[in-house]
Amino acid sequence: MRSTSSQKKLILLGATGSIGQNCLDVVRRHPERFRIVGMASRSRVRELLSAAAEFHPEVVAIADPEAAETWREQFLALGAKVLTGTDALVEIATWPGAELVVNGLVGAVGLLPTYHALRQGRDVALANKESLVVGGAFIAAAARAGGASIIPIDSEHSAIFQCLQGEDSGALRRILLTGSGGPFRTWPPERIYQATVDEALAHPNWVMGPKITVDSASLMNKGLEVIEAHWLFELPVERIEVLIHPQSIIHSMVEFEDGSIKAQLGMPDMRVPIQYALSYPERLKSDFPKVDLFAIGHLDFEPPDFGRFPALALAYAAAREGGTSPAVLNAANEVAVHAFLQRRIPFGRIPEIIERTLAAHTSHEPADLEDLLEADRWARQRAEEFAREG
Ligand code: MG
Repeated sequence: MRSTSSQKKLILLGATGSIGQNCLDVVRRHPERFRIVGMASRSRVRELLSAAAEFHPEVVAIADPEAAETWREQFLALGAKVLTGTDALVEIATWPGAELVVNGLVGAVGLLPTYHALRQGRDVALANKESLVVGGAFIAAAARAGGASIIPIDSEHSAIFQCLQGEDSGALRRILLTGSGGPFRTWPPERIYQATVDEALAHPNWVMGPKITVDSASLMNKGLEVIEAHWLFELPVERIEVLIHPQSIIHSMVEFEDGSIKAQLGMPDMRVPIQYALSYPERLKSDFPKVDLFAIGHLDFEPPDFGRFPALALAYAAAREGGTSPAVLNAANEVAVHAFLQRRIPFGRIPEIIERTLAAHTSHEPADLEDLLEADRWARQRAEEFAREG
């Protein structure tokens, strides 16, 4: 597709994942508005090649050097240069000529590309919440230094962001961060502890990648989102409250100083917040399914149960502790979820491993990003040891 000046030029990180595929669907529906200049995938090269054949990026990044060599000729035949190696994600995130980086990577690996894109003055449409959970202070500083904006894609944060348009952020009193409660919302604790991978992956409302779906079942996803909201909207975590809303129609709410509450509603479909992040500050038409409140009839709310979902309490504790603790929380969670998905540990061990890793850690104020990445590495090693203890 020929590039025109009215097309916003995008770099898509995590192109073959759930966010990436939804993003490509939005671009497919608005070819006059968006052009994919670069795309990256960590492992699914075959899917990346088929996306490249459709969207004709100038450049692709493939983390695994061996895979990159195997496939290089086929990408070149499509007109795409191939980047590889450990710095490939940063290199493509800062690729010249692009206007917006869409970060749909899973895990702490998303941190450096977000950081360098912002520092370079490039806006980031952020689905990778770990960028902010692990390196919030540095990411915020990079955005300030580069004069760049973070536009949230996470549905809750997109909702909050939309509710705050035209408002004075100083008048924000409280965020009500909604969550479905996941597949185990009504389960007794002993059944949650022994939940299987298939049960954890059966989310009632959202179709997402496996890592975030398990996080949604443990409520760790909501905990990570509290930390994400803290950095995005500069509000202390005490003023960010989780509200369980099983229908997932209200994507979050904000309460102002005068007691007014604004909410954003929509069907649970990630293409809506992705499209908004891509077109912001404009709104584009869509033919995605619309909310039918007459059919839905009622919306329910309940408080989260910190006893049955200890991961949420751990996330709040790490957020209050600050320093390197959120990075350790996130790394231990990534390791524990991975072990669970490989069927090496029961579901109930996930929060136990995180708790033990946090207890073994002495939090400190990180001097730089490398300091945080060191805490991340340390936590991964400890969590893996705890996971192996059986
Ligand atoms: Mg979310």
